[in-house]
Amino acid sequence: MAKEKYVCNKCGKHTPFVQEVENLPDGVERHYAGCQSCGYQSTIFYIDSEIKSLMYQQKNTAFGTKKKERLTKQIQGLMDDLKQKIESKGENDENK
Ligand SMILES: [Zn+2]
Repeated sequence: MAKEKYVCNKCGKHTPFVQEVENLPDGVERHYAGCQSCGYQSTIFYIDSEIKSLMYQQKNTAFGTKKKERLTKQIQGLMDDLKQKIESKGENDENK
């Protein structure tokens, strides 16, 4: 099976998608992929302990149910909030 690839935001080259995790303060995890050409790190998402426990619940909820739908939306909303919170206080401009 071919390795999944993505296009680097910085150098525009295709690079193998290897997901890595960085631990931030307050139990936040930053999941990112590093470019093999230029070393640039593209953030995929941030999660904290609350999101993690919701993801666990979501995983254990049957497909096609209202509960799963609700959890998925809730997780997405919390991830967006967390991302904004973290990126607004740093000089992280990778998504511009
Ligand atoms: Zn690159």
